[in-house]
Amino acid sequence: MRVAIIGAGVAGLSTAKVLTQAGHDVVVFEQAPDVGGVWSRTRRYPGLTTQSPKAQYSLSDFPMPRDYPQWPSGEQVQAYLAAYAEEFGLMPAVRLNTRVTAAEPGNGGWTVTTDDATETFDRLIVANGVFCEPAIPSYPGLAEFTAAGGRLRAGTEVHDVEPARGKHVLIVGYGKSACDITVPISQVAASTDVIARHLLWKVPRKIGGVLNFKLLLLTRMGEALFRYLRLRGVEKFLHGPGNGMRTRMINSIGTVSVRQFRLDKHGLVPPGQMEDIVKGAIGLATEGFFEGVADGAITVHHDRTIARLHANDGSPYAELDDGTSLPADLVICATGFTQGVPFLPGDVQERLFDERGNFMLYRQIRPIDVPGLYFNGYNSSFFSPLNAEMAALWIAADLANAVPLPDPASMRRMVTDQLAFMDIATATHHCRGTKIIPFSMHNVDEVLGDLDLNISAPVRASHWLNPINPAAYRRITPALLKRLSSTSPAPRTALPPPAPHPAGRKP
Ligand SMILES: Cc1cc2nc3c(=O)[nH]c(=O)nc-3n(C[C@H](O)[C@H](O)[C@H](O)COP(=O)(O)OP(=O)(O)OC[C@H]3O[C@@H](n4cnc5c(N)ncnc54)[C@H](O)[C@@H]3O)c2cc1C
Repeated sequence: MRVAIIGAGVAGLSTAKVLTQAGHDVVVFEQAPDVGGVWSRTRRYPGLTTQSPKAQYSLSDFPMPRDYPQWPSGEQVQAYLAAYAEEFGLMPAVRLNTRVTAAEPGNGGWTVTTDDATETFDRLIVANGVFCEPAIPSYPGLAEFTAAGGRLRAGTEVHDVEPARGKHVLIVGYGKSACDITVPISQVAASTDVIARHLLWKVPRKIGGVLNFKLLLLTRMGEALFRYLRLRGVEKFLHGPGNGMRTRMINSIGTVSVRQFRLDKHGLVPPGQMEDIVKGAIGLATEGFFEGVADGAITVHHDRTIARLHANDGSPYAELDDGTSLPADLVICATGFTQGVPFLPGDVQERLFDERGNFMLYRQIRPIDVPGLYFNGYNSSFFSPLNAEMAALWIAADLANAVPLPDPASMRRMVTDQLAFMDIATATHHCRGTKIIPFSMHNVDEVLGDLDLNISAPVRASHWLNPINPAAYRRITPALLKRLSSTSPAPRTALPPPAPHPAGRKP
């Protein structure tokens, strides 16, 4: 089939690789001048590193270079993904600097329009990134603030520290990106103030200064500490008779983090328990952040937001919701991302979303009643490359009609149940159904379960106590490809018309 993929981040690239190996003719549209998505030079901010260690942020058959540090920089991850695209011969299929403006179903396939041309494809895969388009709050007084020389930027628009040198800088947000960018900025700015709507728990990279957090949280045991929709094996114990032990295990990380970062001294102990971390963004503490707070280079205003921007004696200022006014030459918003598919027509969007604007995707991949359309990267996890790669296999199998799908009503029920569960498990912090943290490996198991494939039980068991190793999954792709090539190819069918749908609604 001729397949269009929108986006050349890790999800688009891994899908392109698997589908090319499965014999499809693939075109990848990428609006940026380079591959890599969130790691592109057009989006990198100073201080950007992965949150997952390099082994966990790897594709199964392409390890990160040995000389990379444990937490590679944004530049290094981009180079890694560019090398992956080269290694698997993907670059001829990637059209850089090419933005998809419209993608519409019709004539048994999809018509994709870019700024330059319109082309038709048999199938469409959306891998446009759920943390790609920054969400910037709209503040009153922006015009007055800007006229006084103030600048408002998304974190992803700040590529080096120079605009902050000698300036009064406000960073809005308290997630990983906000804290990451704060540290290098605080080393050059006249003042650095962080405006945090809520304090969040932060996991130390090295718990107690010695134990790599991956040994606690990036294992199957770490995942099992959080209650999933359906409990299996050890999980039944941990959320039954072993509940006390489980709670102590998670919350002891919180106790260590309070001690390690002297959070009580700085007045930065978040409310609730470490277990609540799943309800926000699970964030690693940024090296140097609390040290910067301790030496006065960084000031955190917690439980505060910016009420308005304004000018005072011709200089730019920001007023907080408690009336405090702070000089603010540069306001950097690390306030999250929007998850949108602006290139899809309204009637397709209506079919994609539930009444609250959540993406209704079976296995985080397939809309229930939009034929010929798939999503990848809508399974953001602790191991996003692995989840994307496994989803790519699922797509390859579904293109060959080799995925046993429940009937549409059952699929809809399963997706609705999953979203209802994630609403409770994460207090609705699942980015409109696109973030699966902390249940990354449950998703991998379910996706591979549909394909009747998995790694061996002993290796899976070893991931209960050792960090998940994506390299252990490197033989899954050849196994699936072999199976697909030995079955007779599915007939190249025109797409059926969509089924009537009961619950779709515009976001
Ligand atoms: C700062 C940051 C740190 C992160 N750290 C980790 C981590 O440590 N571990 C982890 O597992 N995950 C992490 N993530 C999650 C991250 O989103 C995924 O790891 C992964 O990068 C997502 O890849 P993707 O391909 O789905 O999307 P992206 O990387 O966002 O790529 C999407 C691509 O689509 C392109 N695109 C969008 N719209 C169009 C269009 N209309 N036309 C053409 N091209 C288009 C974009 O330009 C972009 O290049 C992090 C995310 C962020 C923002």
